[in-house]
Amino acid sequence: MSMRELVVLGTASQAPTRQRNHNGYLLRWDDEVILFDPGEGSQRQMLHTGITATDLTRICVTHFHGDHCLGLPGMIQRLSLDRVPRPVAVHFPAGGAEYFARLRHASSFYETAELAVEPVDADGQRITLGIGTLEARRLRHPIETYGYRLIEPDGCRMLPERLAAYGIAGPDTGRLLRDGHLDRDGRRVTRDEVSVTRPGQRFAFVMDTGLCDGVYALAEHADLLVIESTFLESEAALAAEVGHLTAGQAARVAAESGVRTLVLTHFSQRYADPRRFHDEAREHFPGDLVIAEDLQTVQVPPRRVPSPG
Ligand SMILES: [Zn+2]
Repeated sequence: MSMRELVVLGTASQAPTRQRNHNGYLLRWDDEVILFDPGEGSQRQMLHTGITATDLTRICVTHFHGDHCLGLPGMIQRLSLDRVPRPVAVHFPAGGAEYFARLRHASSFYETAELAVEPVDADGQRITLGIGTLEARRLRHPIETYGYRLIEPDGCRMLPERLAAYGIAGPDTGRLLRDGHLDRDGRRVTRDEVSVTRPGQRFAFVMDTGLCDGVYALAEHADLLVIESTFLESEAALAAEVGHLTAGQAARVAAESGVRTLVLTHFSQRYADPRRFHDEAREHFPGDLVIAEDLQTVQVPPRRVPSPG
């Protein structure tokens, strides 16, 4: 079975703490390994995960505040040091291209790795991947910020016992799958009669934003949602002012959007006890709830149960 999991590199907003590294996240999804928002120390944190620079296929940056991008110089230079043999795609807000250019060449190094730089310059921009679609949505923050979601299309799973009942085998199965029907012994057998829908999975990454339409668009029906909850409701006014979410807001978005596993992260250093995020979120979100810790792995939940075709 293919591997789909989130590996958390760091969970601190703004400044690292003794317990929390700057932000940073890895998503392993079949043959894609995507690094999101590498803050300071991401390269060293990655050493603890079993994932190497050579595994990376893509880097996504939501915006150019330091806790989301200061790890880029080290990570980019590491790609060359390790002679990563294929291009690594990089996505970031197009308005921050100047910051990216500086981070990319922050110091002298022998550059061998190839970056496929594809900035995001429109709300709803879609990038086609082998595993589905990567979509960027504009978020609400003092500088240009995009969240990302990964959408796997629905598939189709053939039911061997139904195929056998209709006497369909071999190349006929492929024909039926391709054409949607097969004429056999004077009767038409449709694909729906011999298969069930295999629901596609979704991952969403929402970082640094006040509440806005983009947050809901990204979170919609996510199997796994990683979302910032910098503050608690006691600081709701401050959160709104500086373009951040509270744990309560993030949890309500997840509940209203049909999210299955909710991962809260990007915590302000003003709160010493992470249970407060859990308790506040739990009031609104009944599903699988994770208050992220550094170096934690979170599995994408198993596929939703297929519906009969
Ligand atoms: Zn920010």
